[in-house]
Amino acid sequence: MAGIYIHIPFCKQQCNYCDFHFSTSLKNKNGLLQALLQEIEIRKSFTKGAKIKTIYFGGGTPSLLSGDELSLIFEQINKHFELDPDAEITLEANPDDLNIQKIKELKNTPINRFSIGIQSFFDQDLQFMNRAHNSQEAQRSIKGIQDAGWNNITIDLIYGTPTLSNEMWQENLQKFKQWNIPHLSAYGLTVEEKTPLFHAIKKGTTANVDQEKAKQQFEMLMQFAKQEELEHYEISNFAKKGFMAKHNSSYWKGDSYLGLGPSAHSFDHNKRQWNVANNSRYIKAINQGVPSIEEEILSEKEQFNEYIMVSLRTIWGANLDLIELRFSAFLVDYFNFSVTKWTKSGEIEQNGNVFKLTQKGKILADRITSDLFYVD
Ligand code: SF4
Repeated sequence: MAGIYIHIPFCKQQCNYCDFHFSTSLKNKNGLLQALLQEIEIRKSFTKGAKIKTIYFGGGTPSLLSGDELSLIFEQINKHFELDPDAEITLEANPDDLNIQKIKELKNTPINRFSIGIQSFFDQDLQFMNRAHNSQEAQRSIKGIQDAGWNNITIDLIYGTPTLSNEMWQENLQKFKQWNIPHLSAYGLTVEEKTPLFHAIKKGTTANVDQEKAKQQFEMLMQFAKQEELEHYEISNFAKKGFMAKHNSSYWKGDSYLGLGPSAHSFDHNKRQWNVANNSRYIKAINQGVPSIEEEILSEKEQFNEYIMVSLRTIWGANLDLIELRFSAFLVDYFNFSVTKWTKSGEIEQNGNVFKLTQKGKILADRITSDLFYVD
């Protein structure tokens, strides 16, 4: 089984915190679509004939594609891959794109799951992030998708912004509840280098992230998830029963996936590849029949670190049986030794051979995982 990720590298405007690859000029959109169709064919052998269980359109803003453009992509995928009839097919969409006309077009595609980039239900917060939509459009987009008959929906929310008080965060969570949405991805605002937010903080024109407030909001989120019986199945992801994201879960479980489009990453257990993060160079290379791809073969220690980083962030935890199966005795000993400090202090709990972060540990997830990394 394998998954396909498709990166659509266009956005209407730049959100101030974003460091993904995208262009705000749509002039290459058609050339890129043609290149993407070619790349699907060129790279079909990557999944070695495995059945495709999930397709995920991310970006950028995939909802900038029309229904017809998406249909061309599906036709090409069906021509070159075997798609599982129950495949999860997710489209990331921004609220301002989900008007009545677009929703009608999307009804003619096999998309069966939406990930809507709401981020906040407050205008002042959306303006701070320089999002292209307002709070009214946020609500209208959810209603439009639900009225059209899709119920497998997830929304993104961001906490920790200087414009979001704890009361407002609680209201955002209540809005999520009122809309009866089965899945939530909630991220703490992070300040990535080279983003407009990074420069504004450096210049002193905007406040930095208040880490203490972000921690409180993460705790409120975990409390809310408990009350609402949402499974906290990955550090930033929460689902009602039966609605865990299959595509993202397969990343976290270490399954292989093929990434298509500029900057997209592919993975097949011991090898990671990534496409050039430049639209013109991507198109040119594909047109010449040789995709511009870089590759890294992961050493055993890198595979170990990758496994620790990903598994510990999930509800499935790090499994010692699997570590013993995949890694040398040296790394098994290293894991047993280094995890003890965290089990003793209560940030990690051990159940049989499975190690998971406790509530207390989830707050320190990044620190704990990097502490468990093997470094020469
Ligand atoms: S819409 Fe998404 S990809 Fe585009 S700038 Fe905003 S956060 Fe980044």
